[in-house]
Amino acid sequence: MKDKQGRTINYLRLGLTDRCNLRCTYCMPEEGINYLPRRELLSYEELLRLIRLLSKNGITKIRITGGEPFVRKGIMEFLHALRQIREVQKIKLTTNGSLIEPFLPDLKKLDITSVNLSLDSLRAERFADITRRDTFKSVMQAFQRMLEMGFQIKINAVVMADKNTDEIVDMAMLAKEEPIEMRFIEEMPFNGQGLRLPESDWDHLRILQHLREHIPGLKKIPSGPNATAVRYTAPGFKGSIGIIAAWSRTFCGSCNRLRLTPKGTLRTCLYDTGTFNLRDLMRAGATDEQLLRAIQEALLHRAANGFEAEARSTSFRNESMAEIGG
Ligand code: SAM
Ligand code: SF4
Repeated sequence: MKDKQGRTINYLRLGLTDRCNLRCTYCMPEEGINYLPRRELLSYEELLRLIRLLSKNGITKIRITGGEPFVRKGIMEFLHALRQIREVQKIKLTTNGSLIEPFLPDLKKLDITSVNLSLDSLRAERFADITRRDTFKSVMQAFQRMLEMGFQIKINAVVMADKNTDEIVDMAMLAKEEPIEMRFIEEMPFNGQGLRLPESDWDHLRILQHLREHIPGLKKIPSGPNATAVRYTAPGFKGSIGIIAAWSRTFCGSCNRLRLTPKGTLRTCLYDTGTFNLRDLMRAGATDEQLLRAIQEALLHRAANGFEAEARSTSFRNESMAEIGG
């Protein structure tokens, strides 16, 4: 599948649920969240049908995200069924890590060992302030266990002005001690509150400058062809550091992603408000050919970059990353 600009689309990010057991301040309001009723979520059968169709048409990599994927019942059975789809070569997960530990042996058996773990602070109290929940211990325990079991771990930290910037260097040092990628993400306004955030001046350039000032010998290393993170390492480091210009949007030119939200909306860009709802089409009896045609049509109208997509959208700031599928 190709989009209007000729970019090949081979990566699907799948929001398995909009629900979460944490309430990170940058992602969700504390209260008043209108979770989707269960019937509005794509069922596992519907998901597998769509994935079979998409994988026959070029999708080779899938990231399971949310909300918190591990709050959805039956996730392991779903992952098992997903593993049977031959065309899907890579299955990866994004998780807050608080519920994953009991599933690690089965994930390993399924060869699902690439995990992006969200961790915005190494201090228990601050972690609790940011996530509004007290799960620091279980997250750190799962992190240790994943290291022991040989998982490939990327840690995602959202950089929040006045909240955790004093820990950027401490967090970067995790990549010195462990063979992980420590990634710093610019904060985006998808916090579900419809509020425009004050513009943070902690953009990718400032994050890099800060790291350079504190880590001697920091040097750029290659990133994959469609990577969102610009990667660095330093002498003595076992792992790497990544910086993701999620709000500055420097990587759109090579974007190979499609997003499917928990309720089945297809998004050709994180910054668009959704092209159409695949769940409704399926429930109205669409054939695979009709579904595919609708997806291809959406790709023909795909915005060139996140700024164009944002300009076309009206309400995107009201959304939470958990609804979109972060
Ligand atoms: N619950 C899982 C987790 O936290 O990893 C998966 C879903 S979460 C929405 C996916 C990623 O989006 C996390 O790494 C999180 O830090 C990031 N994220 C959420 N809201 C964000 C925001 N407003 N700006 C930047 N990143 C955000
Ligand atoms: Fe939940 Fe992840 Fe959003 Fe935090 S970032 S509230 S863990 S979905």
